[in-house]
Amino acid sequence: MAYDTNNIFARIVRGEIPCKKVCESAHTLAFEDINPQAPVHVLVIPKGPYLNHEAFAANASDAEIADFHRTILEAARKTGVAEGEGGNGYRLITNSGPDAHQEVPHYHVHVVGGAPVGRMLS
Ligand code: ADP
Repeated sequence: MAYDTNNIFARIVRGEIPCKKVCESAHTLAFEDINPQAPVHVLVIPKGPYLNHEAFAANASDAEIADFHRTILEAARKTGVAEGEGGNGYRLITNSGPDAHQEVPHYHVHVVGGAPVGRMLS
């Protein structure tokens, strides 16, 4: 799988397609998933052209990586699922590559919560 500069999330970053923004920082954008699988379902994406977790972790700067994780936290707080804000927690999911069924070729982390989610890997 190769990075495609016209993938849907790259177009959202460029403002060519609208999104319901949750929060934004220098290198990162968080917005509501169009087909939510839980009461809270936010996608967090880097603004840079990274295919997936593998590409991001290998090639992004420390500043981008720190910014990305802090923006996940900000999104969790803003949507009320962060425990420090009285919420009940959340799950982070990312699919990297064909075995994980990655569909959109731009790195994204799903933040899901707002109700108990199913058990995984247990
Ligand atoms: P993967 O996470 O494996 O790449 P998914 O299809 O589960 O594959 O993730 C892509 C997510 O992007 C889906 O949850 C889908 O609902 C969401 N999505 C697709 N297009 C948009 C859009 N224009 N705005 C917001 N979310 C979108």
